[in-house]
Formats: sequence, structure tokens, C-alpha cells
Amino acid sequence: MTTSWWCENAWLPEGIVAGVRIDVDRDRIVAVVRAPEPGRDSRRLYGLVMPGLANVHSHAFHRALRSYKQQENGDFWSWREQMYVVAERLDPDNYLTLARAVYAEMALAGITAVGEFHYLHHAPGGIPYADPNAMGYALIEAAKDAGIRLTLLDTCYLTGGFDQPLSEPQRRFSDGDAMYWAERASVMRKHSSPTVRIGAAIHSVRAVPLDQMPTVAAWKGLPLHVHLSEQQAENEGCMAMYGRTPASLLGDAGVLGPRTTAVHATHLTRGDLELLQSTGTGVCLCPTTERDLADGIGLAVAMAQREIPLSFGSDSHAVIDIFEEARVTELDERLITARRGNISADILARAAINHASLGFEDAGQLERGKLADFIAVDLMSVRTAGGGPALETIVFAASAADVTDVVVGGRAIVSDRQHVSIGDVGRLLAAAISPLLAD
Ligand SMILES: [Zn+2]
Repeated sequence: MTTSWWCENAWLPEGIVAGVRIDVDRDRIVAVVRAPEPGRDSRRLYGLVMPGLANVHSHAFHRALRSYKQQENGDFWSWREQMYVVAERLDPDNYLTLARAVYAEMALAGITAVGEFHYLHHAPGGIPYADPNAMGYALIEAAKDAGIRLTLLDTCYLTGGFDQPLSEPQRRFSDGDAMYWAERASVMRKHSSPTVRIGAAIHSVRAVPLDQMPTVAAWKGLPLHVHLSEQQAENEGCMAMYGRTPASLLGDAGVLGPRTTAVHATHLTRGDLELLQSTGTGVCLCPTTERDLADGIGLAVAMAQREIPLSFGSDSHAVIDIFEEARVTELDERLITARRGNISADILARAAINHASLGFEDAGQLERGKLADFIAVDLMSVRTAGGGPALETIVFAASAADVTDVVVGGRAIVSDRQHVSIGDVGRLLAAAISPLLAD
């Protein structure tokens, strides 16, 4: 049966158009037509309707740390110690509860697909659960409950640093070596479905030795993600151990390419940029996490000029707001260049809906045959009013709170700013997080 959605304005491939009807059959768009007035049987969406947002990089459990110890002096590495404390307390049951709430928060923010960079595989001490993929299954169930698409990036994590053993909290991240990782992850691969994709990830050049990388990279045809040059210390360690930058090392190991997404890519050389461009590697920028963890500002303008495919991730979830990721990318650049208008709203908004690096190539466009994943953004809120239906309004004025409706696979999962099946997401988050932070 076809369902019709009438949109006051819609962002179509040819631009923003007023008065559009989107017809949906099961999970696909079957027609997009001009319709100045809503039909009698159409559901109505006001404001600007646009493709759902893609959150390309997430660690769901980091959400627990958002307001935790924000007064403390420190850096990425001291924050990581706090993160490990939370990681130690998670099991398949409480991770399901937490991730369900986090993915529901994402749904409210207009995110219709998330890339979960998953390395919390085993019980504390590195002991496998009765089913070694129990933690991954919890994430799949959480995304289904929240109604969003999930690309589970099963992450290989083997060492505690360059030539360093794993620390105690890190032991549960490791499968021992890449061959055992592949064995476990191959079972996970069987759980892909129309709403779930399984991909692979190399945690970083810190956590996976060079000789282990090709085994992970050999997973053909699936998304492959890797943390790249998030920290200067990573670059220095890589130079000391291998005499090459992390990007160059990944290139030599066959990790880079069109199906690969480098996450962060903050501290790059010109040669690294050229390598990403020449191999067709995408970059996922996480600027709200970079600012929260004092990580630095990346080279987004140079990447945009080189037409490196860009996407955004809320990563540590200091905030879950893809509009904010887009806005910060430009505003950070203004601070360091003393120039405005460095990256256009069009480029930033396209990065916000880039589903290709999650393996959902058939999402991210309001077009016949594509997945029926779209959202409505209020253009009359106190933040957006006056801007009109323009991408500049979305990028420079809107926040996650302006998302009123979210449709995934033709099904309304958020209606009038409420999660349809989960209800009070704030309460759910509080109930999930409090026990993890208790003394
Ligand atoms: Zn990350």
C-alpha cells in the first residue's frame, strides 16, 4: 500500500522546492511529484523535508561521559582513562539499555543511520561471552528498537599502543590477533539485513600492527573505517615505529580506497591529503568531539577543495546534533583563518546526509527508488524563523531540537518531536547512565 507525504518544502536533487508529494511503498520512495496543495489522504510535513542525517561515527557508550568530570584539567588521554572506567561496567544487558537510549536520542535529532565503531567485544579481562558477539547483538537490537539503520563496524583492536601490550581495561577490546577477529566478525556478518549493515574497522595504527592490517582490509565489498591521526602523539609514535605517517602506513597496508573512511584525519601532512584524494578515501569529521577533547582543528577546507568525500560523526556524543557538526566545521575555519565563507552550506549539508560510507548507497536522496528515509525541520522555531527554506538556515541556524518528524523505511519513528515507540528518551538516558557513573 502506498503512503503519501505532502511536504511544505523539500530538498530534492535539483534543489529546494515548495509543495512536494513523496509516495512511499513499503521502505522505498516510488514517486516524488510537485503538489502545491496537500491531498486529502496525504500526511503533512511542514518546514523543510530533507533526506535523513547520517551519523557516520559513533561509540554509543561514550554518551555516558557527556557531563562527567568536565571541570577536570586534562586532555584526550586523561579523558580516555575515564572512558575506560565506564567501558569496564558494561555488559550485553546494560549496553542494550544505554545504546537504545542513545540511538533514540539520535532519532530525535534526525539521524536515520548510524555507523557504530564497535570494539567493546568481550567481558572484562578479555574473556569471550557465551556468544562472542553478544555485545554486537545488543547494538543491533538497540538500533532496531530506536528505529534507525545501523552499520556495525566490527573493530579490530589488538595492542595498547605502538609495540605496547594491552592495558587491563583494553583486554576486552581484543580478539588476540586479526585472524581470530575475522573468525568472530564473520559470524557477525551473517546478521546484515535491510536495516543493518556489517562493516569492518581498524581501530587505529596504534591498536593494530602493520602485519595484521591486511587481514582486516581483505573484507571485500564492505565499508572499512579507521581512526586516523586524531592525535599528534599518534603521528609521532607512528613515525618512531614505522618511519611513516599513519596515512602512509595505512596506504602501504592496502587499507585506503573508495570504500574506506578515515575518521578524524585531524593532523595530516600535505602528502597525507594527496594520498587520501588519490585513493578515493572518504573522511568523517567529528568537530564537536575534537573541541570537547581538545584534539585540534582539521583540514576540512583543503579536503573539500580536493573533493574528498566528507561525512560527519558525533563520535563521543559530547552533543548529538549533525547540524552542529556541519556548522562547527565552517566556524572553526573562520577562527583560524579570520575569513568567512570557507565551505559552502551546500557542501556541508551534503556531508550531513552522506550515507555512502555506511554502505547505504540507496539512502540520502529524495528520489524515486531510494530508501524512504527523510526528516522534517521546523523553519518557524525561535532558532530558524526568518531564514526561510534554505540550506543556510539548516546549517547555520537549526539545531537537533528543530527536527519535528523522522521517517525511516517509510515508517514514522519520530512524530511532532516525540519518539513514537520509546516515549521519554531523556528519562531512558538518565536511567541508563546513572548506574554507570555511580561510585
Ligand atoms: Zn572514535
